[in-house]
Amino acid sequence: MLQETLNIKITKASESRVSEVDWSNLPFGKIFSDHMLMMEYKDGEWQQPEILPFGNVSIHPATSSIHYGQSIFEGMKANRRVDGKISIFRPEMNAKRFAESCERMCMPVIPEKMFVELVRKFVEVESAWIPEMDDYSLYIRPFMFATDEFIGIRPSETYKFMIFTCPVGSYYTEPVRVKIEEFYSRASVGGVGRAKTAGNYGASLYPARKGQQEGFHQLVWTDSKEHKYIEESGTMNIVFMMNDTLISPSEESDTILRGTTKRAVLDIAKMWGIPVEERKVSVEEIITAAKNGTLQDCFGAGTAATIAPIVKIGFRDEVLELPPLETRTTSIKIKNYLDDLKAGKVEDPLNWCLIV
Ligand SMILES: *Cc1c(COP(=O)(O)O)cnc(C)c1O
Repeated sequence: MLQETLNIKITKASESRVSEVDWSNLPFGKIFSDHMLMMEYKDGEWQQPEILPFGNVSIHPATSSIHYGQSIFEGMKANRRVDGKISIFRPEMNAKRFAESCERMCMPVIPEKMFVELVRKFVEVESAWIPEMDDYSLYIRPFMFATDEFIGIRPSETYKFMIFTCPVGSYYTEPVRVKIEEFYSRASVGGVGRAKTAGNYGASLYPARKGQQEGFHQLVWTDSKEHKYIEESGTMNIVFMMNDTLISPSEESDTILRGTTKRAVLDIAKMWGIPVEERKVSVEEIITAAKNGTLQDCFGAGTAATIAPIVKIGFRDEVLELPPLETRTTSIKIKNYLDDLKAGKVEDPLNWCLIV
């Protein structure tokens, strides 16, 4: 019924570009599939969605999102299963988070069921682009931006919602080195840190570049008030293991993005009887544990990288070495289980995967 009411207009590309892809050399986020989905909001409602050949979008110079930042996005992945079917991992969580980002940014909400159905239908159209090799997937980028042609600060009355997809391989090609940031902030209490909104990423580039110049891939953000508590790392949530317990900063504060990957990691751990704590995590606690050898594991969790083991933590003028990768049996087991779930190699007891 939903499919009927959605009534997507589909115009296929005259020729697919999929045969031109060099699968052995796939840069992250630079190869785009044949089509894009577009749906406009005007006169107080969403208009008919359309799937059309991928291409440029022409915009007016006064397009309000460029000037005032009403722009949000999501990131998720579709995988080819061993039985040939296509699965999307927990898209309803992305739909919910997208709706929350809409609310925070004064943008019109897309009903969650409709969001999932638009993603599902689009992935179905692009199914030829889903890589079959291990560790490869189709990255899905839904996004929305304000389109009023008006130089005045107020919520736009028109928007574009779009989806495109990129076939991708692994995000990090080496274990990650991070630096604990004690001056710059990603988000502050009462701000927009919980929303996946464009400005958060623009604001992080300068401090991140400084970190990169010092030899780190990513920063570990700390609270903006005291820089005493750990929040997340770059565009990943962060998880530690101490005393055989998985520990991650609690999401109660609105400064941390509520990640679907971290949620899956902690849900799996709980299902397996591994103790999990979501609470405040102080910088001091982590540095002490890293020094005395009780920090068993540390990794980033996010859609792009899934689980990215962190091997070095920079703090002030020290660089602390974390335990070697082969000792991190819990996070390796969780990552393999997640990969197997998406690939349909194991049962999916909680119905996390949407079959396209
Ligand atoms: C997207 C994102 C994450 C990870 O969320 P997932 O749903 O796991 O992909 C974490 N932190 C930030 C700041 C993000 O933008």
